[in-house]
Amino acid sequence: MDTTVIADQKSKDEFENYKKQSKWKDYHWQLKHSIKDINTFEKLTGIKFKNREKDLLEKVTAKFPLSITPYYLSLIDVENYQYDPIFLQSFPRGEEMTKTSCDMADPLDEDKDSPVPNITHRYPDRVLFLVSNTCSMYCRHCTRKRRVGDVDSIPTREEIKVGLEYIKNNSQIRDVLLSGGDPLMLSDDYLDWILSELKKIPHVEVIRIGTRVPAVLPFRITRELVDMLKKHHPIWLNTHFNHPREITKDSREALRKLADAGIPLGNQSVLLARVNDCPRIMKRLVHKLVQNRVRPYYLYQCDLSEGLSHFRTPVGKGMEIIESLIGHTSGFAVPHYVIDAPGGGGKIPIMPNYVISWSTHKVILRNYEGVITTYREPDHYKTIFCDNDCESCNLQLNLNGDSDEYKAIGIEKLLSDYDKTISLVPDENDRMERREE
Ligand SMILES: *Cc1c(COP(=O)(O)O)cnc(C)c1O
Repeated sequence: MDTTVIADQKSKDEFENYKKQSKWKDYHWQLKHSIKDINTFEKLTGIKFKNREKDLLEKVTAKFPLSITPYYLSLIDVENYQYDPIFLQSFPRGEEMTKTSCDMADPLDEDKDSPVPNITHRYPDRVLFLVSNTCSMYCRHCTRKRRVGDVDSIPTREEIKVGLEYIKNNSQIRDVLLSGGDPLMLSDDYLDWILSELKKIPHVEVIRIGTRVPAVLPFRITRELVDMLKKHHPIWLNTHFNHPREITKDSREALRKLADAGIPLGNQSVLLARVNDCPRIMKRLVHKLVQNRVRPYYLYQCDLSEGLSHFRTPVGKGMEIIESLIGHTSGFAVPHYVIDAPGGGGKIPIMPNYVISWSTHKVILRNYEGVITTYREPDHYKTIFCDNDCESCNLQLNLNGDSDEYKAIGIEKLLSDYDKTISLVPDENDRMERREE
């Protein structure tokens, strides 16, 4: 970027005074003082943009709004801001206006897979429930960028009830993911109400919360909040740290409170060019996460949402990172690297190949060091042909009266013995159409 830093002592002093305020750790104060325009950003950081550049930035924020908490802003290294991962994730760039041929408004078809407003039902046994349309910080790499700043609103109880009703009426849903926006932008009472309503539904076994609050507004994790959350166990929480610099004393404190409340913590990172596209940075990040009782869960390949092209890396970069982690560090510190399939196919795990070859009685594998090894298959394995009659099977699956017929789908169906399907054929296959004629 073509900018010049002018050390503007007066405004930076103003920011230093901010930080000394007794209210700094009050999350209401943080939200009220969120930075939402370029001028305030310049004033508080002492960074000055040239007029031409500022015009472009204003255009970008008119399309994709800006919002940064004072806390997150305070983590920016003003002297080296152009390469700063905090700056890059929170501050707009002209490139966001670039529309490339692969960009899509809703690449994951979340809107198409939505049976009722605010619900995305993509997988058989779990749903995404968007309970908030607002965030404390607007990530520049947001996959739901199309919606950012639409209306910073919280769905009404009536609107939430429509989603609850859908979950109630679909007994296969055992896992509900609260997302948004950020669900922790709701008041404790409102969230308490949603969680209580979900807990009343007998088939809902677990509830998950997806939130970036521990990274961008750690003061939101209050004693009162965690005391409320732990009433509704099992609650799982996934947060979103992308760079080790985001793990500060304040965010560690937030994570400690959540973990002490017995909430299993996971982390979903996005692979972002110039932010964390480096094996050493990612290794540092996952190590810091597990030290704070957070298990790295997913590493996402950057989605094809509009305005994100400058953040995308080749898939090979993710492979390289995963290659540098598997075997080299603790197994529980390695996230699943996934591509969320454009068109709504869901998350697809990808990883380097470890199986090199195969015969009827040997599997040839390689490990992280490049050692090639042989696993000898058993000489005597009595093949079990499964007829899907679990009631009369000798294996001890305790059905507890729940004898719903088990139906395999997809590749699992091809592997099963009881389903006679031998191939899955795409629609509009010419060869199949000729057969029908
Ligand atoms: C990610 C996602 C889920 C949850 O997937 P898990 O792999 O179980 O974490 C559920 N629904 C939608 C639409 C999702 O995008």
